Amino acid sequence: MSGPPAGRSGDRIRVGVAGARGRMGRMTCAAVARDPELELVAAVDPAFAIEPPAGEEARVAGEERFTGVQEAIQSAAPQVMVDFTIPSAVLENVLTCVRGRVPVVVGTTGLSAADLARIDQEAARHGVPVFVAPNFAMGAVLMMQFARQAAAHFKACEIVELHHDGKLDAPSGTSRLTRMLVEEAWREAGHEKELPIHSVRLPGLVAHQEVIFGGLGETLTIRHDSLSRESFMPGVLLAVKRVRGLQGLVVGLENIL
Ligand code: NAP
Repeated sequence: MSGPPAGRSGDRIRVGVAGARGRMGRMTCAAVARDPELELVAAVDPAFAIEPPAGEEARVAGEERFTGVQEAIQSAAPQVMVDFTIPSAVLENVLTCVRGRVPVVVGTTGLSAADLARIDQEAARHGVPVFVAPNFAMGAVLMMQFARQAAAHFKACEIVELHHDGKLDAPSGTSRLTRMLVEEAWREAGHEKELPIHSVRLPGLVAHQEVIFGGLGETLTIRHDSLSRESFMPGVLLAVKRVRGLQGLVVGLENIL
């Protein structure tokens, strides 16, 4: 029998979170649990195999805990899975969800163009939507749009992306997407050039980016700062609510606003 176990879900969307013991995963679990349209049914993290330190045992909303995505899909029947894991785990998690017919919202960065092509292919083959956003913050989406606009007028640009020292991938997914947008605008204007990205990793930072354009006697700096991981939550919740209505692979928050 398919569908959620009787009497547990009502009209709320049943959500699983992979990477639930991580920085983003914890915040996502709490945000999902607070949202009246959503129900947190599964928290997935290999760290659940280890006894949690005293005081960390409390579940957010009575969700079941799992050490792997496959097990969570089979036991908790989530209708949407959110992935905030690590670059080495995300591809396999997404493919497992797609094959298990569970739409996925992916926040984990580090997916290559080849990984995205593979996801696109599998999502289409199984008819399961996958939404990927390198950045769920509204200000970051606007920063990228403004950068694309500015690229039509400036032929020189460099990006400085700055993140906390626990970030595993570099350059960041946001900076890679920004570079793609600027280079695309340059190509449309007949200007072929590679845009350099500088990565800074320091304690104290969260997620920041400067897109610096240089022209004749002037510079233009477009800067975005995520000062807290709360900045990503409205975008994540929106994606969770919208993903089931998408088709195949969709990349970028701007596509669901
Ligand atoms: P984090 O604190 O390291 O959390 C990652 C968690 O995933 C860890 O608890 C890790 O467990 C767990 N994990 C590893 N393999 C797993 C698997 N196969 N299944 C389920 N969970 C698994 O990292 P974070 O700071 O939360 O960031 C997570 C990702 O989100 C990063 O790629 C980061 O760049 C990205 N991010 C995206 C946005 C956005 O807006 N899109 C915003 C912020 C961050 P172990 O510790 O046991 O390995």
